[in-house]
Amino acid sequence: MTVCYAMPPVRGKLTHGAPLAPLVWFKSGGAAEYLFEPADVDDLATFLYALDPSVPVMGLGLGSNLIVRDGGVPGVVVRLGKTFAKVERLDATTLRCGGGASGILVSSNARDAGIAGLEFMRSIPGTVGGFVRMNGGAYGREVEDVLVEADVILRSGERRTLALGDLGYTYRHSDLPAGAIVVGATFRGHPGEPSAIQAEMDRIAAAREESQPLRSRTGGSTFKNPEGHKAWQLVDQAGCRGLRKGDAQVSEKHCNFLLNLGDATSADIEGLGEEVREKVKAKSGVILEWEIQRVGVAK
Ligand SMILES: Cc1cc2nc3c(=O)[nH]c(=O)nc-3n(C[C@H](O)[C@H](O)[C@H](O)COP(=O)(O)OP(=O)(O)OC[C@H]3O[C@@H](n4cnc5c(N)ncnc54)[C@H](O)[C@@H]3O)c2cc1C
Repeated sequence: MTVCYAMPPVRGKLTHGAPLAPLVWFKSGGAAEYLFEPADVDDLATFLYALDPSVPVMGLGLGSNLIVRDGGVPGVVVRLGKTFAKVERLDATTLRCGGGASGILVSSNARDAGIAGLEFMRSIPGTVGGFVRMNGGAYGREVEDVLVEADVILRSGERRTLALGDLGYTYRHSDLPAGAIVVGATFRGHPGEPSAIQAEMDRIAAAREESQPLRSRTGGSTFKNPEGHKAWQLVDQAGCRGLRKGDAQVSEKHCNFLLNLGDATSADIEGLGEEVREKVKAKSGVILEWEIQRVGVAK
């Protein structure tokens, strides 16, 4: 990446050539041409307004559904820090959450406020920005079921509140405009007893612990479940459980998860995923679609 753009002044932190591997779950991949950690919403909006419109921009949450390719990410990667991680109760069933708030923070606040229906976020290790973008979900619920509206800064720097219907949600997909950054979201649940909500969160956490490699370098579900199928079953039936490419491996515990066992490159991980897709297609005829977002350029 040799292009150097004129960067508008910022109040937050703007870093040239910032390594992204430490910021994503797979712990692999190259650097962001620029990493911007805005001081607040105004800082982000002013920056995007002034930024050359040809410069690509992408949001980064906790990197829990992301392969960053080894050549890095051109343009600006925006990461939301603590000022974007607040959660506020609006009324008896509604929470307003910053785009950088984690799923655990949102679900814990909902419990304390006696708001049920957001427990599923307890198990998704990302941020509100990632949930809104990905229509994250688990245990029969997804963002589409609880979102009232999302506050975004468009690539142009314009602030917009997008209603649920504007986001074009389908399974693990939204029509969030390219380059838009989600800075907040309002979620609505229903009245519940904090102790019952905690019990449901505990049940979800235990189920996760049993079925997923949670303390590994991974990216969550690799492929979307095709209509009428479970991706993990197709991967298993194609003989891919435990399959390796360098230090990348299909998890033995949950074979819709890929792992970085140590020094895997993003090319190893993505290449292994493509090999799995080919084997599944040959075995069952089903073409798996990536759920993990793959960003940046190869080395
Ligand atoms: C162990 C494990 C278990 C998981 N279980 C689940 C599960 O049960 N259900 C599920 O749905 N997912 C699951 N995931 C995947 C992942 O947690 C979700 O997709 C989550 O929504 C990603 O959030 P993130 O903040 O980490 O986003 P990232 O991984 O950082 O980014 C994902 C996408 O969202 C975009 N994005 C991130 N933040 C913003 C923002 N502020 N504004 C605009 N775009 C943004 C990125 O550009 C990228 O396209 C799991 C992952 C792991 C590692």
